[in-house]
Amino acid sequence: MSTVQIPNLIAGEEAVGDGFERYNPADPAELVAVAPASGAEAVDAAVTAAAEAQPGWAALPAPARGAILLDAAEILRGRHAARDLVREEGKTLTEARGEVRRAIDVLRFFGAEGWRLGGQVLPSSLPDTMVHTRREPVGVVGLITPWNFPIAIPAWKLAPALIGGNAVVLKPAELTPLSARHLTEALVQAGLPAGVLSVVHGSGAVVGEALVRDPRVAAVSFTGSTQVGMRIERAVQERRGRVQVEMGGKNALVVLDDADVEQAARIAAAGGFGLTGQACTASSRVICTPGVHDDFVAALAKEAARYRPGNGLADGTLMGPVVSEQQLGTITAAIERATAEGATVAAGGEAPEGLMLAPTVLSGLSQENTAAREEIFGPVVAVLSAADLDDAINLVNDSRYGLAAGICTRSLAAAQRFAAAARVGVVKVNRPTTGLDLNVPFGGVGDSSSNTFREQGAVAVDFYTWSKSVYLGWEG
Ligand code: NAD
Repeated sequence: MSTVQIPNLIAGEEAVGDGFERYNPADPAELVAVAPASGAEAVDAAVTAAAEAQPGWAALPAPARGAILLDAAEILRGRHAARDLVREEGKTLTEARGEVRRAIDVLRFFGAEGWRLGGQVLPSSLPDTMVHTRREPVGVVGLITPWNFPIAIPAWKLAPALIGGNAVVLKPAELTPLSARHLTEALVQAGLPAGVLSVVHGSGAVVGEALVRDPRVAAVSFTGSTQVGMRIERAVQERRGRVQVEMGGKNALVVLDDADVEQAARIAAAGGFGLTGQACTASSRVICTPGVHDDFVAALAKEAARYRPGNGLADGTLMGPVVSEQQLGTITAAIERATAEGATVAAGGEAPEGLMLAPTVLSGLSQENTAAREEIFGPVVAVLSAADLDDAINLVNDSRYGLAAGICTRSLAAAQRFAAAARVGVVKVNRPTTGLDLNVPFGGVGDSSSNTFREQGAVAVDFYTWSKSVYLGWEG
């Protein structure tokens, strides 16, 4: 398979460059993509082009903007991007097809929103007067995205930003320029005017920082690590820009005594080892009540054996490699630290082959173990014990994060109590913590999210627009 030179896209012009080389994580000899290591001047040019193009784009009727998103969905469907996504990011072909499908559906959803974008009509206290609200675009928007969903996350930010009438500068993750390219090229081919979308590749420290600090960028939407997200949040707030940061998680799955243990283990494995555990909503800790704990650890260890890592393009692979050497080093160091702090390795523990890391089950952890508190972002599930549902809820909420949480139980009352008490943005009952519907608001609380605006669903447009109230009077 051939290497692709991924260009920057600025003011409708493409320019290739060297700097970032991306190799297939399942086959390190295969160079998949080369992208430029741009400087701050590229961001400056992209923001200038965006500021020039934005008023014309906003002046187009929303259904006409939507038509471009709908056409882009069809073009993306015809590109068969899933195999490239596997070669670049490492997930399995089934997972990659699901992600590409998600990006297509997101474009369709927000394309159709072009027919629905509107405000409210409200009664006025004055005679012969009508009040209505308008949604105004924020202007130029900066989007900074991670590598773990390299098509779907840019799509779920770009689509609401564009339908809202904004011009966008996208900075994709360094590790996944090709996947982002499939999406952005589809938008350009669908007829997006020059300058409405620019793409600048490069490092977070240079390109990301320049985008965050540019005062012409009215709003920044970021998805990535908590450490970087908090820094971006502060920087944008300092200059009174609008900011949305969606960050890490330490998502808990509670398994109660009344749960079906085999089913709970399948749910935990799908949420913990699926996507190689590299999902912000991954079930990275499981909290069991005493009657089910030992059976659950044994059942999860059995499930782990099914998720033997392999090339995502091979038939039957349930779990792909870890994304990079650096990520592998972080994960193996976290496992070592967990055992040094008292955890037992109940499954996994073998030395990785290349970037193929066996799924790991840790048990016997205290709540103070670092593996019970900090995100690992790999196929590692830590199993803890709780005395009962109340104790489990306390452990779930004793976390700096608050993204997703799940519970396995046959009791509707327990499920409802849990749904009300868990301090997280997403609750799943008898379902993996991973996997979201695109029409449902998504985000977290605590150190997982800025927790102001939600992504996904129709409400996602709120971040990219502001509300204006118009009083319309006439003489009767
Ligand atoms: P990361 O924070 O390292 O990088 C994310 C993006 O930010 C990249 O494009 C990177 O280049 C850029 N960046 C890095 N430093 C920057 C800086 N100083 N200024 C501006 N931009 C900068 O995260 P990652 O490793 O790519 O992604 C993994 C993380 O993303 C995990 O913590 C995961 O939980 C999180 N994530 C969260 C969600 C969510 O919706 N909450 C979804 C997916 C991933």
